[in-house]
Amino acid sequence: MPSFDTLIDSVPTGLWIDGQSRPAASGREFDVLNPATGEVLAQVADAGATDADAALTSAAAVADEWAATAPRIRAEILRRAFELVTQRKDDFALLMTLEMGKPLADSLGEVAYGAEFLRWFSEEAVRINGRVTTAPAGTGEIVVTKEPVGICLAITPWNFPLAMGTRKIGPALAAGCPMIVKPAEDTPLTMQLLAAVFAEAGLPAGVLSVLPTMDAAGTVAALMADPRLRKISFTGSTRVGSTLIAQSADQVLRTSMELGGNAPLLVFDDADLDAAVDGALAAKMRNGGEACTAANRILVQRPVADEFTERLTAAIADYTVGPGWEDGSRLGPIINARQRDRLAALVDDAVAGGARLRTGGAAVAGPGFFYAPTVLDDIAPDSTILREEVFGPVATVVAFDDEEQGIALANATEYGLAAYFYATRLDRIQRVSRALQAGMVGVNRGVISDPAAPFGGIKQSGLGSEGGYEGIAEYLNTKYIALPPT
Ligand code: ADP
Repeated sequence: MPSFDTLIDSVPTGLWIDGQSRPAASGREFDVLNPATGEVLAQVADAGATDADAALTSAAAVADEWAATAPRIRAEILRRAFELVTQRKDDFALLMTLEMGKPLADSLGEVAYGAEFLRWFSEEAVRINGRVTTAPAGTGEIVVTKEPVGICLAITPWNFPLAMGTRKIGPALAAGCPMIVKPAEDTPLTMQLLAAVFAEAGLPAGVLSVLPTMDAAGTVAALMADPRLRKISFTGSTRVGSTLIAQSADQVLRTSMELGGNAPLLVFDDADLDAAVDGALAAKMRNGGEACTAANRILVQRPVADEFTERLTAAIADYTVGPGWEDGSRLGPIINARQRDRLAALVDDAVAGGARLRTGGAAVAGPGFFYAPTVLDDIAPDSTILREEVFGPVATVVAFDDEEQGIALANATEYGLAAYFYATRLDRIQRVSRALQAGMVGVNRGVISDPAAPFGGIKQSGLGSEGGYEGIAEYLNTKYIALPPT
């Protein structure tokens, strides 16, 4: 493991603008905390509207040249960045563990996943295709081309500090768009290191900027009000996402929105229970439950509910809680005190409403923002914990009677990001996978994210897809050129 201090000292802490790290125009900085200790990890430059303008100016200066750069060259820069991130996987993993809190094994998993977006989109950069057809009446030729949308803004959350950036930067750069990233204020360091790695990979100055800020609303509003910006891609809460959609109207910006989720995980009476327990653990506890795809509600058919809940409770109670860099830690801290208090309030409210606490149910005393791994069942159907994103290591188990009721419960939410189910009967698998209202459905699988698959939600979970063949389309405009007949 690299030494903490050497690693932190190697991360640029200025704003990344025009290919270099520099102080904010205001001279202000803000603290980044280590959530496992509550101590200050680093101080980072705090961008404002003047810096937003500087980032746009540097992006505008290179936008045409980057769009005209041969796809193969753009691809090779992305590929080199993939290789450099992979070579430095231990640095990236430890950095994420230090600023976000997740155990090193989870961080290493994220480095592999996050780097893969760079490789995948390096391979997609050379496959941006249009088409030529003859007009049906023979009156001309229809030529369809794809052009980069222009300067993009990515606003990323703290739960996957690397992958939520690469999932947007990869396709933007592959498509020929400059990108400005506004990382989450809790975890700005990982994006700063990535920007330095991109410079090493040969990315021209101005194509990628990183603007950490404590004033997300003001800095983003300044960027979005500027006509040089053409697109935003946001991952975060539905509340902020819907504000940004409204704000996008002024400049008619392209928008991609990966918003909140309230994923159900259904366990039917024909499920393989061993697989279902493993899948529920992965879907609930991966990343400490701090994922928009996390299984928010575990719905179990009554004949198998007792056995399933007992086995799930035993496995969750067995998680070792501790700083992510310590051997054996399987659950790190919650990102910050505010989120931990929110989680505690959700659990307390459910218990006050009659829910049964099977294990956990309290913050862990001592430094850092730890919360005990928790399982609740017998939860009142109208409990807030079943409606809101839990975003933490708290599993909620609800029993249901038949398939129809299970599906109705699963769909009884304004969200539609991920859904999971465990069953073995083929007719049931076909019916349920079609009936679930979600952008992504895991069948007998608790982890579904894959850079080669389209990630995205329906209903209030978002607009558009990231990853897969679909992901790059979000960064391309379609142009129709009408030619006379040959
Ligand atoms: P969470 O509750 O998980 O922190 P948020 O939606 O609040 O999710 O944050 C996701 C990202 O959106 C972060 O980078 C945050 O700084 C940014 N953000 C929060 N509020 C605004 C806003 N009003 N305008 C633009 N970005 C915002």
